[in-house]
Amino acid sequence: MSSINISPPWGSRKGLAVIIVAGGKGLRMGGDIPKQFLVVRGRPILMHTIERFHHFDPTMQIVVVLPSDQHDYWNQLCQQYGFDIPITIADGGKERFHSVKNGLVCVHTDCTLIGVHDGVRPYVSTEVIQRCYDAAATDGAAIPVVPVFETLRHITPDGSHTVPRQDYKLVQTPQVFQAPLLRRAYEQPFSPSFTDDASVVEAIGHSITLVEGNRENIKITTKEDL
Ligand code: C5P
Repeated sequence: MSSINISPPWGSRKGLAVIIVAGGKGLRMGGDIPKQFLVVRGRPILMHTIERFHHFDPTMQIVVVLPSDQHDYWNQLCQQYGFDIPITIADGGKERFHSVKNGLVCVHTDCTLIGVHDGVRPYVSTEVIQRCYDAAATDGAAIPVVPVFETLRHITPDGSHTVPRQDYKLVQTPQVFQAPLLRRAYEQPFSPSFTDDASVVEAIGHSITLVEGNRENIKITTKEDL
């Protein structure tokens, strides 16, 4: 079991929560099965993701956001695979923003640190989870990032040009926040510029701490990713 080194008032490991968002239709992969339910190494992807957080801290509250028409299917899968990690289920929303908002309502009010993680990122490491919760405990908001190794081009109406890749980072999840900060940020109206939780928190003027992510922590989006 991992431990988290944070000082009061965030010192209680009892106060941790994660919202795992799998509220999208997830059909970009093609086929009928939403990508969070595709089986990888003998189990649906979403089960691997949940296990990562439960392994990090068996006492943390895990909220899983799923479209309401997938709840029955999920319950069937849990029976089929003998999956018994306790979770709270919330309904998916129109955009990721609305799914996170629905998940937030289900987080216990005594939780002090809340992470948000994509359901389709089953390869996040325990060290990265730990780093994000530790940094959020001291700084308020923390997200994992990795360097860009490919060359990047900026597309303009006149053509395109290379941009310095050292000026950019790829952003992953979990994105972790002190609870009052995340709740306040999600009171804002939706904006299409909110592509992750950090962008929502930044919009109320709070800075974001970057911590080192793990390269394998990819968002499974297309068949090739599998
Ligand atoms: O499709 P996108 O890359 O935005 O998905 C990132 C994560 O957000 C996925 O885990 C997806 O299930 C989730 N999501 C959601 N509710 C939506 C759209 C996406 O929970 N309405």
